[in-house]
Amino acid sequence: MPSDHIRSFGFPRWGEYGKDKDAEAVRMCDYTGCNERGDHPAPKSPGSNERWYFCRPHAAEYNRSWDFFAGMSDEEAKRHMHDNSQSSDAFASARTFEWGGALDENGYSTTEQAAFDTLELDSGAGQDQIKSQYRKLAKLFHPDANPGDPAAAERFHQIQSAYDLLKE
Ligand SMILES: [Zn+2]
Repeated sequence: MPSDHIRSFGFPRWGEYGKDKDAEAVRMCDYTGCNERGDHPAPKSPGSNERWYFCRPHAAEYNRSWDFFAGMSDEEAKRHMHDNSQSSDAFASARTFEWGGALDENGYSTTEQAAFDTLELDSGAGQDQIKSQYRKLAKLFHPDANPGDPAAAERFHQIQSAYDLLKE
């Protein structure tokens, strides 16, 4: 669901930093019209190996734009995380974990809270709890244990993604 902002991102640009002859070629921020250094890589799409390079503020803006949970209340986000159906929303929520989503200034992001919720844990749960709950749920929803059950496969993917996000 790229926003208009993201569609306006141009091709990678290179520029020179410094005015003397030691000027170093640096990657410029990919955000249209921005002339800062782009030293914050971000996937062009969830799961993609291609990267945009942004300055810090634009990387943050890009992450916010891609955060599946952006603009949702916590309750809505939780509802989506509990949706085991094959809907595109459930798929998108699982993919969001793959690159963490937007981070809050302090405390847990909505994405992290949703990840705790996916693992059916309180958001203060420690690594031991996260690990044992992950093992329990992964076993329960593993495709081998649920042959031909796409809802279980989706849940399994969400559980893995949530664990990837929360493990140390
Ligand atoms: Zn920028």
